[in-house]
Amino acid sequence: MLKENLESVEAKIQAACERAGRKREEVTLIAVSKTKPVSMLKEAYDLGVRVFGENKVQEIRDKYEALPKDIEWHMIGHLQTNKVKYIVDKVRLIHSVDSLKLAETIEKEAEKHNCTADILLEVNVAEEESKFGLKTEKVLPLYDKILQYSHINVRGLMTIAPFVENPEKNRTIFADLHKLYVDIKEKNIDNDTVSILSMGMTNDYEVAIEEGATMVRIGTGIFGARDYSI
Ligand SMILES: *Cc1c(COP(=O)(O)O)cnc(C)c1O
Repeated sequence: MLKENLESVEAKIQAACERAGRKREEVTLIAVSKTKPVSMLKEAYDLGVRVFGENKVQEIRDKYEALPKDIEWHMIGHLQTNKVKYIVDKVRLIHSVDSLKLAETIEKEAEKHNCTADILLEVNVAEEESKFGLKTEKVLPLYDKILQYSHINVRGLMTIAPFVENPEKNRTIFADLHKLYVDIKEKNIDNDTVSILSMGMTNDYEVAIEEGATMVRIGTGIFGARDYSI
């Protein structure tokens, strides 16, 4: 099942890239393995997957220990400041920075661990009450503040679009985030570090790619439905 799912997702990513006149290499697939057992991640690893996304600190720590070290771990979930220390030197990218307080903590912990943290700013483009993320107008001010930190690199933006039956409904959200991304890229023209736009999940990643996503985060489409009862 995993093999067929991966092939099907890969084919859809390729087709979306073609429709948008983009190169396949411009889009990184993140296999979102939250709640799934290590054995299933190992199976995906054996099929060639090296980029995994998780949303819980404890789960990243456990899976990091249990699986090969050439895996890139992506923290895609809400991050509490008191847990930054456990993952700051283990994850390739933190997708979910949405406050100055969190950025300050990442700066401090990265310095302690002698590393530089690559992060994305999470934007709540749709302004859903239930979601984390910055309002659009708060993004540039926070970006400017973080620029002064020496142990954080802001690499781009992330959003979680609403769950909708028809993914076309999220197209304007993706287009809006892309616009903001281009603005930030232009501000940052001297040191070309802003290059990641993380948007699109199982239900809407094809539309997200058409609107410029450089990372798509796909869970259900690869690993099947999640069971939260266990
Ligand atoms: C769970 C999750 C995903 C993957 O969701 P699917 O709909 O299963 O593809 C992507 N991004 C974030 C932030 C998530 O928490």
